[in-house]
Amino acid sequence: SKTPIGFIGLGNMGNPMAKNLVEHGYPVVAYDVFPEACKEFQDLGAQITDSPADVAERADRIITMLPSSLNAIEVYTGSNGILRKVKKGSLLIDSSTIDPVVSKELAKAVEKMGAVFMDAPVSGGVGAARAGNLTFMVGGVEQEFDAAKELLTCMGSNVIYCGEVGTGQAAKICNNMLLAIGMIGTAEAMNLGIRLGLDPKLLAKILNMSSGRCWSSDTYNPVPGVMEGVPSANNYQGGFGTTLMAKDLGLAQISATNTKTPVPLVSLAHQLYRIMCSKGYAQKDFSAVFQFLREEENL
Ligand code: NAD
Repeated sequence: SKTPIGFIGLGNMGNPMAKNLVEHGYPVVAYDVFPEACKEFQDLGAQITDSPADVAERADRIITMLPSSLNAIEVYTGSNGILRKVKKGSLLIDSSTIDPVVSKELAKAVEKMGAVFMDAPVSGGVGAARAGNLTFMVGGVEQEFDAAKELLTCMGSNVIYCGEVGTGQAAKICNNMLLAIGMIGTAEAMNLGIRLGLDPKLLAKILNMSSGRCWSSDTYNPVPGVMEGVPSANNYQGGFGTTLMAKDLGLAQISATNTKTPVPLVSLAHQLYRIMCSKGYAQKDFSAVFQFLREEENL
């Protein structure tokens, strides 16, 4: 029979990811700082614990799926953190999107305890998490990759080895900065087209057969009424929160500063998403930048 897997952070993404582990027959040992998030897993037969340390006591393979760097530091190195009770030889996989510098620091602390740390952030969103076809970008010691892959394939269809620890985060940050810039560009182009008298559905169709086509135009169009089953069709509820996108653009800014890399469009995108957060869009999907542009122009 399979040995238990620890799962910490059962939010929008962690919930469906942990469910897929249960579906694949793994006993799950779960913890979330928000007790409501654990309830569902009790009904599914998971063991619910009181702290990350308790998870580490009961499972020697643990996945964390937390909002940000600070939460990850707390969960690993806090007074009741994983490192308090981690067993030698344990495999700790962090799928949160955080600063790669923090991933490297966590990896060092984990190594000191005789365990293994890998960063494995995901792309794909809540729909892909439910369907089990996330993309995992994995950084860490290559010899450990197969062990990580065994678990990650229960939740994702693409599991890509990127290099040393932190490189999974690097790939994720580059993807999301391009996603943000593409989304803002799509929203601007769609809005201008509408102002020029074009039907938005027709404009989207033309973009999607032309050189302006991108994921934000053809799979996640930000204009209500253009596509079904996307956040713009549902008042921008669910999906990938504006606050999380602002966080990821902040990570891109930090990484660019550390490496003296010019990223002018990232700076602008970051500020736009931060302004949106302070104007009531924080919990809406990041494609709401279209709605934000419409509001700004009416001032
Ligand atoms: P979320 O806020 O919905 O869930 C995070 C969970 O972590 C919450 O249940 C929260 O209670 C819990 N948590 C916070 N601090 C904790 C602590 N100290 N101990 C235990 N639990 C704690 O976030 P999410 O949408 O699931 O995203 C998780 C990560 O995945 C983020 O880094 C995000 O950027 C990334 N991500 C999200 C998406 C998406 O579409 N939502 C897609 C790809 C990547």
